[in-house]
Amino acid sequence: MDEFGQPRCPDDGIVMRDTSDAFVCPHCGYRIEIEAVDMPAEFDGPDIDDWRPRPGV
Ligand SMILES: [Zn+2]
Repeated sequence: MDEFGQPRCPDDGIVMRDTSDAFVCPHCGYRIEIEAVDMPAEFDGPDIDDWRPRPGV
């Protein structure tokens, strides 16, 4: 599991677990509902071609 963007519980500072629809503190059960998140794997803009190695360069 990577920890980028992993929020911490505001109550006890414990790193929260992410479920399919919310972050949940394993200690006290505090929940942060996850709204629509931009997933990097889904982006399909024109920028994706710019960082690819090009055979002609
Ligand atoms: Zn907590």
